[in-house]
Amino acid sequence: MAELFNFNNIDTAERKSMEKNIIDFKRLHSRLSGKSRKDSKPSHCLYCKQQHNRFCNSHSIPASFLRNIAVDGKVYTTNRIIDLPIFDTERGVNNSGTFQLICRKCDSVIFSDYENYLNYNERPTDRMIAQIALKNHMRFIGKRRFEIALYKNMKEEVAKKRGRNHHVDAFLDDMLRVANLDLLEYIKDFKNCKKIIEKGWANEHYLFYYEKIDYTVPIAFQGEVCLNFDFQGNTINDVYNKSKKYKLQTLHISIFPMESQSIIMLFIKKDNKRLRQFYKQFNSLCHADKLSAINFIIFSLSEDIFMSKTIHDEFMVNERLKNVAGLTSIQFSEIDNIKVTV
Ligand SMILES: [Zn+2]
Repeated sequence: MAELFNFNNIDTAERKSMEKNIIDFKRLHSRLSGKSRKDSKPSHCLYCKQQHNRFCNSHSIPASFLRNIAVDGKVYTTNRIIDLPIFDTERGVNNSGTFQLICRKCDSVIFSDYENYLNYNERPTDRMIAQIALKNHMRFIGKRRFEIALYKNMKEEVAKKRGRNHHVDAFLDDMLRVANLDLLEYIKDFKNCKKIIEKGWANEHYLFYYEKIDYTVPIAFQGEVCLNFDFQGNTINDVYNKSKKYKLQTLHISIFPMESQSIIMLFIKKDNKRLRQFYKQFNSLCHADKLSAINFIIFSLSEDIFMSKTIHDEFMVNERLKNVAGLTSIQFSEIDNIKVTV
């Protein structure tokens, strides 16, 4: 297996070089990402299909949950741990993990059950679970659309500055091919999930872990992740299998901090059989190990984690956590909110 790239392994000299070039990089990135955002802007609402000029700033984690851990309206990003000079270490709640794919009207209706904290007095319904899955698929549709536009713009930018380069073109073409395949999969998942909600189908997802904790956890997360291995090292997803027929099976995780309690949920699509061993192993863990495993999974496989600014600095400089958080794939869409700070 190829070694995973670890951001935490970037040495001091490279960090210094990044700092030196940061203004140029941010300028270039700001220009390319601005253009890519424009290019990837939809013309129709993904949900109701109506034509719109303006789209809602939808939050991957409901802003009302994020506010429970914000200090002065801000939360830490995972870069608070990895600490790379080119990325933001904190963000305002209003632009944390957002995507623009649906109209305001749809945004106010299609997630309303799961975004209402009162609905967590009871175990979440099938409808709430499906709404969470629907949004997770949409978040990825937004990311891939943006990345596809960005790779195309990068290709043009390189050609403009240095002339056509076969190696760069081949690399970006490969990224484009994979992103396009991914996008089609997420659109399929989205359509399927929409149908589940509209038809009111039950038991389409399997919620194998649900826990209400009686304090506010300092972390917020909502997303789907792709596990490579289970706890015994058996392959769940072969991420290097690029065959059109091979379908990755994802795990949905939610960590919702509330005013004086927190909700933690893990669920899968019911036919994601490759995750069966994983959830059996997970359910046999003790409470503390379950929480550690969830932390390990989200920090190593996602960038969409937001943390309270009340978390002690000691935690942020922990070498083991830095290594786990650095083990992430490069997600250009995650840095589209970089501000040029000249
Ligand atoms: Zn709509």
